[in-house]
Amino acid sequence: MMFTDTYRFNDVIHRCFRCGYCKFPTNWMDVNNCPPYARFRMEPYSCGGRLWLTRAWLNEELDWSEHLAEILYSCTTCRNCEVKCPLSFNVDIVNMVVAARSEMIERGKIPGAVKRFLENIDLHGNPYGSARSKRDAWMEGVEIEGYNGQEYLYYVGCTGSYDTRAQKSARALGMLLRKAGLSFGVLGNQENCDGNEVHKLGEAGLFEMLAQENIGRFNGLGAKKIITLSPHAYNAIKNLYPRYGGDFRVFHYTRVIFELIKEGKLDISGGFAAQVTYHDPCFLGRWNEEYETPRRILAAVPSLRLIEMEKNRDAALCCGGGAGNFEIDLLSGSESSPARRRVRQAAETGATVLAAACPKCLVMLEDAAKAEELEGRLSIRDILEIVTDACGMESGLQT
Ligand code: SF4
Ligand code: SF4
Repeated sequence: MMFTDTYRFNDVIHRCFRCGYCKFPTNWMDVNNCPPYARFRMEPYSCGGRLWLTRAWLNEELDWSEHLAEILYSCTTCRNCEVKCPLSFNVDIVNMVVAARSEMIERGKIPGAVKRFLENIDLHGNPYGSARSKRDAWMEGVEIEGYNGQEYLYYVGCTGSYDTRAQKSARALGMLLRKAGLSFGVLGNQENCDGNEVHKLGEAGLFEMLAQENIGRFNGLGAKKIITLSPHAYNAIKNLYPRYGGDFRVFHYTRVIFELIKEGKLDISGGFAAQVTYHDPCFLGRWNEEYETPRRILAAVPSLRLIEMEKNRDAALCCGGGAGNFEIDLLSGSESSPARRRVRQAAETGATVLAAACPKCLVMLEDAAKAEELEGRLSIRDILEIVTDACGMESGLQT
């Protein structure tokens, strides 16, 4: 079968004329907002370059190679290019990349790391290849009920469940929801991957299976309102699950925590004395246009001074972890890696704390701060950890 029969953007992809506007964040002197282009500084890794390369492969003017596959998979689906591209097809740029990835999957020609990532999710329900029976390990030391019809289902996600750094955020959210007296429960070992990354990697069949299983499980338990730790899960449940009949009210935790503070159910009068800058996660910001609620939480914390990085809101630089790259890791290994650029941008503001609202960003940025030897000068904290401190609680940082 020819690509031209199956690739649904065949009549669109040629419209990119490689003007390069999509590379620029805020000024024409700076071309570092497309993470893979910032990392490798070679045209094929830019948005336009990748589209041209993809078109050449789809038109069979170029043979498949491992390198071509890596270039295609190096896009983190951060959507910076969609904000910057002046053409009307800009809304479909990431869709074009995802559809091309689906073509590669169909032909069994994807990078080994992507294959392992997808296989782990298929076999173990998480990209790390960890046992399903260990999914509730994050709850150790925190009393949290299993979900049995409470008002909210707290969906933790793979990174919060398994990554030891992100588990601290998962615990902090559980502790805060308990302190506020919210009626909620978790799925523990019954939780499965939400599939957001699977979708962005182009594995439509596996995504559909995960979405249907999750929707069935949520519905079977009577869950109607869902709180997510991760913006990635928030995106999947809010924007992708409705295609498969999923009809839930889904909240990223920032919205819930902000409301609980506003209602006086969380007392943050203890404050947090530090200069803090905030990193917009792509799946909360550009994907779901939620820029202000995390900032409102930080602004409400006594003694906290919020400073903006130059690249903020829809011009924020992605941490490089999207589309599975927090684990597939096609962009690390250099001071040009996006997460290392981002922590340098944060340090340049004079802030001593970089606040995150996504467990994947948290892990990426903390590793980058270590690589940049910024420990002691810049600490990476989830907004949840800042709020637990301000509440005078033992923070979720205890392991
Ligand atoms: S994606 Fe848009 S902005 Fe980027 S090179 Fe192509 S036409 Fe230009
Ligand atoms: S979505 Fe992000 S990583 Fe992908 S091409 Fe656009 S700017 Fe680059």
